[in-house]
Amino acid sequence: MPIFEYRCDHCGHRFEAIVLNGRQPDLCPACEHPDLRKQISTFAAHASSGSAMAAGPAPCGSCGDPRGPGSCRTH
Ligand SMILES: [Zn+2]
Repeated sequence: MPIFEYRCDHCGHRFEAIVLNGRQPDLCPACEHPDLRKQISTFAAHASSGSAMAAGPAPCGSCGDPRGPGSCRTH
């Protein structure tokens, strides 16, 4: 689910909004000013950092097969 963080250039209010079907908020919920600046999505930031750390299964300790202990059948 795409969640974007916006910051109002007018009053500095920050809020998160779920964008459905490309519909984005066009008014600040605090001051109803249309000068919104989209921030980096916290959802996307978490997803990218998580995938960067996911290096896949550890190599098999017995034969070093990079597919992991469940994939090598020699032992
Ligand atoms: Zn505002």
